Amino acid sequence: MTESSYDCVVIGSGPGGYVAAIRAAQLGKKTAVVEKDKIGGRCLNYACIPAKSVLRSADILSEISEAQDYGLRVGSVEVDFQAVQERRQKIVSTLTSGVSGLFSKNKIDVIEGEASLTGSADVQVGDRQIQAETVILATGSVKRPLPGTQFGGRVIGTEEAWAIGELPARLAVVGAGASGAEIASGFARLGSEVLLFEALGQVLPTEDADISRLVERGLKKQGIQVFTSTLVGDVKDAASAVSFTYGSESTEVDYLVIAAGRGPDVEALNLTAAGVELDERGLIKVDCALRTSTKGVYAIGDLVAGPALAHKASDEGIIAAEDSAGLSTHPLSYLDIPRATFCTPNVGSFGLTEAQAREQGYDVVVGKVPYGAVGGGTVYGDRTGLVKVIGESKYGELIGGHIVGSRATELIQELVNVRALEGGYTEVARIIHGHPTLSEAVMEAARAADGWLIHG
Ligand SMILES: Cc1cc2nc3c(=O)[nH]c(=O)nc-3n(C[C@H](O)[C@H](O)[C@H](O)COP(=O)(O)OP(=O)(O)OC[C@H]3O[C@@H](n4cnc5c(N)ncnc54)[C@H](O)[C@@H]3O)c2cc1C
Repeated sequence: MTESSYDCVVIGSGPGGYVAAIRAAQLGKKTAVVEKDKIGGRCLNYACIPAKSVLRSADILSEISEAQDYGLRVGSVEVDFQAVQERRQKIVSTLTSGVSGLFSKNKIDVIEGEASLTGSADVQVGDRQIQAETVILATGSVKRPLPGTQFGGRVIGTEEAWAIGELPARLAVVGAGASGAEIASGFARLGSEVLLFEALGQVLPTEDADISRLVERGLKKQGIQVFTSTLVGDVKDAASAVSFTYGSESTEVDYLVIAAGRGPDVEALNLTAAGVELDERGLIKVDCALRTSTKGVYAIGDLVAGPALAHKASDEGIIAAEDSAGLSTHPLSYLDIPRATFCTPNVGSFGLTEAQAREQGYDVVVGKVPYGAVGGGTVYGDRTGLVKVIGESKYGELIGGHIVGSRATELIQELVNVRALEGGYTEVARIIHGHPTLSEAVMEAARAADGWLIHG
């Protein structure tokens, strides 16, 4: 048995874990990261980054297919799917080596292997016992199958979907949340025939209804067959195809992607022995500084409540590292975290939907402006995008922002920032925006909420 000791040991090197480790090291803590698979975690290796890399190829293809609208004649275009995947791998290795470089720069030790907690809340990796003043659990989440199904063969999860070696001729995606919508939109535009199933009544079920409606229209325009309020069952995986039923129909596809749920990766952690408690959903219980029920042990990212997003994991990592170093930290406001979906059309949102704001009894004002209302929408070729600002009239507070259309994932940040700086929609309405930009539609939506829309 080898022994070593650190001020801070982080288990998991995803966006939660690696950021926590860097912050701890910046604060002078002798820090190690334990990783059982690849540096960068699932986000960089299998999830966010691979997804966006392949989607970028689909986006370029979409632009090329619209080239004639811009006076450009382009010859025939072919998808070289292997090259698309090679680009994905190259991006992943660039970014993951970047994280390894940051570990070296910050003198963070990397320990390879699967970690668990000991009864005294130290860390065990194989036959190595590591004493740690602070442990930050950042082991992320794993895919969960639909009831009655199991992964394997041609029934795959979202991470495997982005790494498929061949462009499937026919693909079904179960779950039209962010990941499912991205897979459907990416593969459909690259040339697959795609069926998208959602058990609830709208695609992107957690988004504002106006936004989901426009996304559904956009997905259908890409040729995707969208089935909402539809359950998939009787999944049978064979050597060359997967068959399943939906409603009273049945069909066969090359791959069935289950994008309908994930759960915390806690199995190996030996939490009970260390006294770390879980909540009723199986997530690790933490307080507002990400402290678990065991002294000196923190948990962040997909292991704890709140939206399962990389930037949320990173922010929690910073809070945990700072709190453990004795700094005063701020609790995270989950509602103010931007949510980004990179399907076409892009979706960016934060805060409450219109329906939630009304249910919660706010005196709601809504400002809705299509991209076409401002010059940028026409110039850049997206008049159908929409910005929807949700405010409450008493104090002019910004309580929700919802954007669908080109660059929505970037545009939403303005509303998030203004709210973070305690500004409201009345301020957004009066901040000067550059022209001609799509951000002018954000300003106009704020003006609409304030009752003085100029362009419309
Ligand atoms: C297909 C897909 C696309 C996504 N796209 C986006 C997106 O665009 N934007 C976004 O914000 N979020 C996205 N997400 C969500 C995002 O990936 C997660 O929220 C994020 O990865 C969580 O970060 P984390 O640090 O908690 O864990 P992870 O990234 O899951 O990293 C955890 C790491 O811990 C390691 N580990 C686990 N157990 C142990 C152990 N016992 N010992 C040692 N190491 C261990 C794992 O090997 C892994 O490397 C996506 C998710 C999926 C599945």
